[in-house]
Amino acid sequence: NTSVVLFTADLRLHDHPPLRAALDGARQVVPLFVRDDGIDGAGFAAPNRLAFLADCLRDLDAGLRERGGRLVLRSGDVVAEVLKVVAEADADEVHMAADASGYAHHREHALREALEADGRRLHVHDTVTAAVEPGSVTPTASDHFAVFTPYFRHWSGHSQRDPLGAPRKVRVPDGIKSEELPSREAVSGTSPALAEGGEVVARRMVADWLRSGIDAYEDQHDDLAGDGTSRLSPHLHFGTVSPVELVHRSRLAGGAGAEAFVRQVAWRDFNRQLLAVRPAASRADYRTRRDRWRTGRKAEADIEAWRQGRTGYPIVDAAMRQLRHEGWMHNRGRLLTASFLTKTLYVDWRVGARHFLDLLVDGDVANNQLNWQWTAGTGTDTRPNRVLNPTTQAKRYDPDGTYVRRWVEELAHVEGKAVHEPWKLSGSDRARLGDYPDPIVDLKDGLDRFKHARGLE
Ligand code: FAD
Repeated sequence: NTSVVLFTADLRLHDHPPLRAALDGARQVVPLFVRDDGIDGAGFAAPNRLAFLADCLRDLDAGLRERGGRLVLRSGDVVAEVLKVVAEADADEVHMAADASGYAHHREHALREALEADGRRLHVHDTVTAAVEPGSVTPTASDHFAVFTPYFRHWSGHSQRDPLGAPRKVRVPDGIKSEELPSREAVSGTSPALAEGGEVVARRMVADWLRSGIDAYEDQHDDLAGDGTSRLSPHLHFGTVSPVELVHRSRLAGGAGAEAFVRQVAWRDFNRQLLAVRPAASRADYRTRRDRWRTGRKAEADIEAWRQGRTGYPIVDAAMRQLRHEGWMHNRGRLLTASFLTKTLYVDWRVGARHFLDLLVDGDVANNQLNWQWTAGTGTDTRPNRVLNPTTQAKRYDPDGTYVRRWVEELAHVEGKAVHEPWKLSGSDRARLGDYPDPIVDLKDGLDRFKHARGLE
């Protein structure tokens, strides 16, 4: 007998419950990935993620080949393609992961109906969350947690399953055709310093992180120039690292750094449980503040300056340029650029979320949309009207200006923290600023506008 394993956001061989269940129950397995029209059509096929995905698929195929198997790649409508492969392989069942988005629910439902109508079965496993599947812990009076801290208390007390090893042998039936695997070189428009994908790279990064990064995490995760975070987000997004295994091994590493890191990983599960019960939160305000976001020519010019890293606020511009160059941005940068767009410029969070999804290699519906909403104050932040002052943030999280000098070359000659306030420069330092812009908005004007809009005066 034969099973099909549909890989989605879990492109790995270690700790893969659907693959394990399929191998336990069947003699042969078809490891399948479908380049899904539904996902591409919804605007999620951004070059950085397609290139990273290409690495992941090649690496998965190589890992399967080492074990006697291979990856089968198809593209088109996911339900139609799975049904075709099931028929070609005469498979009895399909194993896959559950996921939280409205699209993932729809896909699971459609697949189940189609397979059952054909006398086959769909088995759904959790491969995407770290400890707590959406819906498995809830507060007494609601279907989900809207505040992270109580969620995290439950999350921490929830028992986590042990991670599974990778299979030794995978037997794939003959004669199942596959499309040629994509390569990152064939994808145009990617960021120049885009990270490399694949489980082999991910496992090396995890080992390095646990050996020499995690201990300092609590103290250094907010230091923009120090870059003291794991950079595992694209691997968690594509599932080349198992969140269960990552949490398990981090807990074994122990210490305050590991604790702070595990807490941060729990935010992923938090956002997923939220999206699972409020799928519309990917587009609509989770909590409306009746915002009438700015539109029009001046707003468009401000948005473009923000996208290009030319707002005249060096810390904002540095972070926006890092995003374009690497397809990744430090969390502190994400927070302060998102606050700047939504609160100081008073532009709709959806505009910023779209730009992030166009560039982020870890761009993820749950994490991106819900973090944008959190920052805009339409989400779960318990202080929805706080506004981050970019200059104060810069002095706190980039105290000597190293991060700004790394990314804003017009300011590379300015020493120390003076780099954060170029409008105060004089003499030759000022002359050498070239075409670096003056601030596009006065912070006080921005704050007044926001307070007025939110009725806080
Ligand atoms: P680390 O600090 O090493 O954290 C480890 C892991 O924990 C991360 O890889 C991530 O999976 C998870 N994590 C950390 N912080 C958060 C958080 N606030 N919310 C959810 N998960 C978190 N993260 C994404 O994965 N995809 C996104 O599209 C995304 N968009 C964001 C947009 C905005 C406006 C903001 C403020 C944050 C966003 N984040 C997103 C969350 C966070 O910024 C990134 O996960 C983090 O910067 C990735 O770097 P890292 O892997 O080095 O993180």
